[in-house]
Amino acid sequence: MKYSIAALLIITSIYAVGQSITISPKNVEKHVTFLASDELKGRGTGTKDEQKAAQYIAAFFQELGLQPKGTQGFEQPFKANRDTVHVLDARNVVGYLDNGADRTIVIGAHYDHLGEGYQRGSLDANAKGKIHNGADDNASGVAGVLELARYYAKNGVKEKHNFLFICFSAEELGLLGSKYYANNPTIDLAKVNFMLNFDMIGRFDPAKPITIGGWGTSPTWGQVIPPVMEREKMAFKIDSSGAGASDHTSFYTKKIPVLFYFTGVHSDYHRPSDDIALINFAGEAQILNAVTSTINALDKLPGRLEYRETAMPMARNANFKVTMGLLLDYSFNGPGIKVDGVSKNRPGEAAGIKGGDLILRLGNYTLNTIYDYMGALGKYEKGQTVEAEVQRGTEKLELKITF
Ligand SMILES: [Zn+2]
Repeated sequence: MKYSIAALLIITSIYAVGQSITISPKNVEKHVTFLASDELKGRGTGTKDEQKAAQYIAAFFQELGLQPKGTQGFEQPFKANRDTVHVLDARNVVGYLDNGADRTIVIGAHYDHLGEGYQRGSLDANAKGKIHNGADDNASGVAGVLELARYYAKNGVKEKHNFLFICFSAEELGLLGSKYYANNPTIDLAKVNFMLNFDMIGRFDPAKPITIGGWGTSPTWGQVIPPVMEREKMAFKIDSSGAGASDHTSFYTKKIPVLFYFTGVHSDYHRPSDDIALINFAGEAQILNAVTSTINALDKLPGRLEYRETAMPMARNANFKVTMGLLLDYSFNGPGIKVDGVSKNRPGEAAGIKGGDLILRLGNYTLNTIYDYMGALGKYEKGQTVEAEVQRGTEKLELKITF
């Protein structure tokens, strides 16, 4: 009897260790359903309805056992200047998961929206008095931050990074909450390795790629993310810019590498019809699970991510179908694209590409920018072999690449 109980305990504990937790659509739905309900009246910056959202977020952080990292508990109050006349009392909500690490990952989303249409930003011609629920913009992103917080607080793993979870206010009035935080941080920003921002991740359409922004802010993104997304079977397109119309911009300008997840604009954007019924909860959970895989891969890398300034504001997008496993020099201006490094056991290495090589042509496509390269990759399928023209020093080589 004793023996069998012991055996059972061993089996149970092995099971518990081997178990990996995932983010569930049900939990995402729960958060969005509260935050985008009529009771919160569209979470206008500085309103008492928005405060209910702040209290909900703070209570959730507390329940997870996160440390309060605002200036008043989990809250960081600030003055939001709507214009020169109106100054609103707003607050960010900040929770911290201390893993005793040297580096920190910031995960953020804005929780304010357009309220009842009296503040600026609505695209409805008669906005005043209409509740703008903002289910996608951005109850979806807040649900993402909350569920990522739950994942990292409850997964039983001590990561090599600490985590700072922030829900920003006054984004709709001009990224005011994230700007305030970046200028008045409650942790040492020098220890922040990178920042992830979620703004509108509720309209996942399996037929369309999601957008990952901030791609050019670190060469590491291009190395780590494509294989993860391939494994998760998620199509994505990229936007290279670190600056854009959401809160990651405030961290990018502090020279922190950023990523921005986004399922795309739609006809309900900034209108009262951005409602709960239109949210794809299963799709959002799928995105968030791809995000934990991405973070977990990044967590294992030693040292700090390299920060890069992005030249182009809102660069044009490209689809990835296949990858080569190359680390590229995003600051190189051509002709050709410059390889900084080559990942092991990927098509680039197998073809004999080396660090320092310039790839001048891939198949029929002349490469002069990173975007030419990404556009070319979008044209090829797995298993296909194409010829690449490579410049190595003074030598020109023809290499065969099999994707
Ligand atoms: Zn938004």
